[in-house]
This record gives sequence, C-alpha cells and structure tokens, in this order.
Amino acid sequence: MRVEIPEMPPQAALIGGDWLATATTLEMEAPSDGRVVTAIARCQAEEVGAAVAAARGAFAGTLGDWAQWSTRRRGEWLLTMAAAIDADHQRLAALECLDTGKPMTQARADITACARYFRFYGGAADSLHGETIPYETGFTVMTLREPFGVCAQIIPWNYPAQIFGRCVAAALATGNTVVLKPAEDACLSVLRLAELAMQCGLPAGVLNVVPGLGREAGAALATHPDIDHLSFTGSPETGTQVAQAAAQHHVPVTLELGGKSPQIVFADADLDAAFDAVVRGIIQNAGQTCSAGSRLLVQREIAEAFTGRLVERFAALRCNAGDADADCGPLINARQKSRLEARLAAAEADGIRIAARGELAETASPAGHFVVPHLLTEIPDGHAVLREELFGPVLAVQVFDNEAEALQLANATDFGLCAGIWTRDGGRQLRLARGIRSGQVFINNYGAGGGIELPFGGVGRSGHGREKGFEGLRSYTRLKTVAIRHG
Ligand code: NAD
Repeated sequence: MRVEIPEMPPQAALIGGDWLATATTLEMEAPSDGRVVTAIARCQAEEVGAAVAAARGAFAGTLGDWAQWSTRRRGEWLLTMAAAIDADHQRLAALECLDTGKPMTQARADITACARYFRFYGGAADSLHGETIPYETGFTVMTLREPFGVCAQIIPWNYPAQIFGRCVAAALATGNTVVLKPAEDACLSVLRLAELAMQCGLPAGVLNVVPGLGREAGAALATHPDIDHLSFTGSPETGTQVAQAAAQHHVPVTLELGGKSPQIVFADADLDAAFDAVVRGIIQNAGQTCSAGSRLLVQREIAEAFTGRLVERFAALRCNAGDADADCGPLINARQKSRLEARLAAAEADGIRIAARGELAETASPAGHFVVPHLLTEIPDGHAVLREELFGPVLAVQVFDNEAEALQLANATDFGLCAGIWTRDGGRQLRLARGIRSGQVFINNYGAGGGIELPFGGVGRSGHGREKGFEGLRSYTRLKTVAIRHG
C-alpha cells in the first residue's frame, strides 16, 4: 500500500520559540526515487549563536527558568509530548519513511520508540537523585545531580526520530535546554517533532533546532563557546572533529560512532532463532544502523548448512521504496551508494566471494539509491570488510572452530558497540559476555540497539558515554558534592 505524501514541516529554524527563515535553504530529496519533496533551513553561525543564546536564556535567565521547574512538572510535560507523538503517529511515520527511505513498518516502529523515550524519561524525571555519603563524624555529605545547562546535540540521518527522542527527552527531563542540529540528509520528522513540542506548551528557547550543513551549522555549534555539553551521533571522523572543538572550551562530550558488531553462532544454539536474528540484524534500515550485526561468526560444524540457508534467504530479499514496505529500502543518498558499491567491487577484486545478492523490485525507481543485500564469504583475515563500517545491507561471514577463536575474531576490530552470542552453554555465554569488548552483549537474542531502558554506547572507535535507560539520564547531569560540617 502506497503512503500518502504527508504535510511538510516548516522550512525554518526553531529559535527562541519562533520559526525563523534563513537566507538560503537546502533541497530535500527522497532517497527512494530522487524526488525533491521540500526544502529545509540552512543555518549559519549567526542562527546557531542566536539559538545558543535562546537556550541559555531559557535555562535560567531572560527567557525563562526551565531548570527551576520541579522534576514532576518537567516529567508531566514529557508525558504530554509522548501523547502528542502518538496522536501524530501516521504523519510522523510517513515523513520518516519518505525522508529516509526506510520501509514504512520500520518508520512506524521508530515513531513508537520516539514516543516511548518521552514516556520513559517523563516517568523517570522525578526518580533521579543524589546520595548521602558516610564521612567523618560531624559531617553530612551529599551529592546533587544538576543539569549541565545548554546541551548541543548533533544527530544523524539514519534514525532521526528515535535519536531525537533519545537525546532530547533525557536532556529536558534533567532540566537542560537544547540546541539540536539535525542531519541535512533527513530531518523532516525532527522538525515536525519540534513543532509538536511547541504545541505542547514547551517554553520558548528550551528546545531550539538549527537545520543545515555539518560544516556550517554543525561546526558552528560544536565550536560555540557557550555550550555546556555536547552529544554527537555519527561517523568516527566527524566525532573526532567535534570532540576536538569541544575540548577547546572544556565541554564534556558523549560520542556514539557506530560499530562492526559480530553475531556469534555456536553449533549448540537454537539455530532457527539465530538465523532470523542474523538476517534482521543486518537488513534493518538497509544496514544503516550503528548497531547492525554486520559480521557473522559461525562454528565450523554448522557453517555450511547455516550459510547455505543464508544464501537462499539473501537471494530472496527484495529492495523497494520505503512506502512499498519491502525487506530493504534505499541507502540515504548517492554518495553512500557509490561508496558502498566501490567497497563491494574492491572486496570482489580481493577474491572475496559474493555468495548471494538480493534483488531490486521491478517497481523500484531507477533514481532510488538502492544497493541490494550482499552476503560475503571466503574473506581473508583482517580484510577491510571485517574492520570498517560499510553502512549497508552487507553481511560478512567468518568460520571459527572453538570458543577462544570466536572471542579473538569478535574482538578483532577497533569498534565495540554490540555483540550477539548464540549458544545454550551457560558457562560459555558468561565467559564471552565478559570477554567481548563492547558496550552491549545480547545472549540468544539481538536487540539491534536494545530497548529504551537499556544503557547504550560504545568502547574504542564506537565512542564513549552512555545514552538510553537511567544511565542516559545520569549522563545529562553533573554531580556536585556538598560537604557540611555541623559538629
Ligand atoms: P557525519 O558524521 O558526517 O554526520 C553526522 C552529523 O554530523 C550530521 O548532522 C552532520 O551534519 C554533522 N556534521 C558533519 N560534519 C560536521 C562538522 N564538521 N561539525 C559538526 N557537525 C558535523 O556522517 P555522514 O557523512 O552523514 O555519514 C558517513 C558515515 O558515518 C556513514 O557511512 C556511517 O559509517 C557513519 N554514520 C554512523 C551513524 C551512527 O548512527 N553511528 C550515523 C550516521 C552515519
């Protein structure tokens, strides 16, 4: 069923509660067919400066006193926002589907998750507290959890609505104000969410959204001297740049930079469950997921049969426009498509076997940025396809003999975001869960990023800091220690 073109959000930036037009705009293309569907504001340093000033004023100043709202009142606002997202579900999902090209079922799941972030953090807002610390006689010592102030948030195009929910809900619940720079490739759902936030009575300046290019609006935000915290989700290269910029002003940074996550399947596992999760873990959002399970490590005894099943399944996978709701949508843009195609050609030239390819549906537009799912086998140890994030529907298969080898292969990457372990052996589950270098480990399931409640983040090249769950709430606060000597 085709999805109706939704009403478009404002072609403007949200600054201090007002939607302001910029001197120039950026055209927004639908990745499924290359159609220009609307335009977005193109903010420059001037608009970013105004947004930071508005967020400062709303935090505790001329515009308002968000940080002084009681936690209960802030929580109630978040719950109101969650209900507004639910009420706007169809339009938000249609925008997300059109803008990112992801299948409509996935877009719907993303909008549901976005609402859940607001509901979870709305409920949690008044449950976060400091501690008292036993100290010398005659002292009472306590810790206070305080908001940072103005939080800068730079988010990517792969899950705009979900990442908006993850970052904005946690920052607002803890009393911060926000300046958010959405991605130039996909941000229509974010603009609609910002519109809803204002309709839900969020005070002016508490949330500011400055669309534009990374090198313009993004760089201006990361280098701004008056931000108090920076959260970035995207590529390791840009992550390094923004962290260096923030370091100039001693601004704390959370980095979520993607992964090269393994799914490890032992011969004793529930192979049907593992099979479904392995396929889902790589084709979700056409592999453009930081937590994609892009490597399969499979034990030799079952390797041939398991890979044989994958060959059949991959050959049957279909790519089509987001609203056709096929297995995979397109990649986000022509640059990502040609980058991935070049990597696949280089892999083939290096002797790697393309054991199976999916198919493009006959009705798919030739102007869409499609790359069909690929299954790669016979990969030389240490090859780039085992180490680099390809950000597409490409699964790299390796065979191992024993637990020690599985662990060594799993950790043979600089990334460390997620891992899936499939085995019925309890001792092995725990040994591997401890031995694997990653922020999340799933045993006999693969959560592809995990739920809203589960702390999420990486080690090494995957970044640092944790979002989601209570840990995400804590990470938007800083601790103050108060030591009272009362005798
Ligand atoms: P990117 O890191 O360049 O973009 C992410 C965000 O950063 C966007 O909002 C962008 O506008 C902004 N940005 C870009 N340059 C900036 C700068 N100099 N200063 C401040 N902000 C800046 O990612 P991309 O170019 O869109 O994608 C490239 C690769 O990044 C992908 O192939 C993938 O491997 C990875 N990626 C990872 C994730 C993730 O969820 N971890 C998301 C998107 C992309």
